[in-house]
Amino acid sequence: MLSNRLKNITPSVTVGISSKVKELKAQGNNIINLSIGEPDFNVPEKAKEYGKKSLDDNKTKYDLVSGITELREEICKKLSKENNIEYTPDQIVLSSGAKNSITNILLAITDPGDEVLLPLPYWVSYSEMVKVTNAIPREIKTKKEHDFKLTKEDLLASINENSKLLILTNPSNPTGAVYTKDELVEIAKVCIENNIYIMADEIYEKIHFDNSFISVASLSPEIKDITITVNGFAKCAAMTGIRLGYTASNTEIAKAMSSIQSHVVSHPSLTAQYIGLGVLKECQDDMDNMVETYKRRYEIITNRLDKIKGISYVKPLGAFYIFVDLSNVKKNYNYDESFSIKFCEDFLNEKRVALVPGKAFGIDEYVRISYACHEDEFLDGVNKLEDFINPYIQQ
Ligand code: PMP
Ligand code: GLU
Repeated sequence: MLSNRLKNITPSVTVGISSKVKELKAQGNNIINLSIGEPDFNVPEKAKEYGKKSLDDNKTKYDLVSGITELREEICKKLSKENNIEYTPDQIVLSSGAKNSITNILLAITDPGDEVLLPLPYWVSYSEMVKVTNAIPREIKTKKEHDFKLTKEDLLASINENSKLLILTNPSNPTGAVYTKDELVEIAKVCIENNIYIMADEIYEKIHFDNSFISVASLSPEIKDITITVNGFAKCAAMTGIRLGYTASNTEIAKAMSSIQSHVVSHPSLTAQYIGLGVLKECQDDMDNMVETYKRRYEIITNRLDKIKGISYVKPLGAFYIFVDLSNVKKNYNYDESFSIKFCEDFLNEKRVALVPGKAFGIDEYVRISYACHEDEFLDGVNKLEDFINPYIQQ
């Protein structure tokens, strides 16, 4: 008999679709993959050199649980310079990817029965991680008119005495929406008044298009104290497979996460940490170039989507996703349980284009397009999407 916790947990939809695409490609199928959020760039060369050198220097033994001191110091400098938040190295915990950081936070902060607040739509893994750690995911409805961003009113309507932690993704996956300073201040105020921690997932922070991004923890010492910021190297430095993430928090929470991590994984791979060190020390230009490319792609894809009749989308200000509203297609579509899952299956089978169903993010009328690939590829995919949905929109 397996653990009861598995009863309500589904494997990751994003990772599942991407694995299916890999299989189909291996069988010789030509697939346009606009599903997983994975940069098409390579890890910057100078960062790779740091990894290679660390192996040559035999940096291959067990090391500090929270990560090498040099990297934690570099992260503190980065947070001070770019995010306007002051931390000391003992408040930084490195882990094997942001996913690992998030589970560390959940294990350090929640008890069984505590509720973790998830504004809809939310990244697919949050709810499942919450369930794995025996807490309770509490979805919060948000409004499309407000780009699905959480408001103070939405939050107040959803909290109760069991509310323990709010997960705030900024820029958002799947919408790409970015919170303004005033919006963050209002939300944080409610959290302080109600003893709710904030997990600020800022893994897409570098990819934003109008300079409006601001870290919630930078807003005041009180807000900083209740906030655990999550970040990583997967998106900003195209290091998805290397697995390196980190948290910045108050010392008490950092110690708690370190204690948990010491038993679960000891520490993230040393080679990964040296590559991360190379990124922060030497690869700012590479990261800036990637962001420039995403900006250009964002213009191209939104211009193209604006010409398609019958659909709309949340105007993204960051990340590399577009969350497309297909309500007009849904009205005329044949499906049993979930429109977006059936739609994405049919679209993949018929047009060989992979998208992620909105259901994975909690909203079934939508699909998510990732444009972290060459424009020829995503434009081909969007042309096929237009052809595919046209008959349903005409009805
Ligand atoms: N947070 C968000 C919002 C994400 O989209 C992802 C997916 N990369 C993660 C966290 C996990 O990142 P990592 O690959 O570093 O585990
Ligand atoms: N987070 C990315 C996505 O949403 C990568 C896949 C995953 O880790 O879920 O597609």
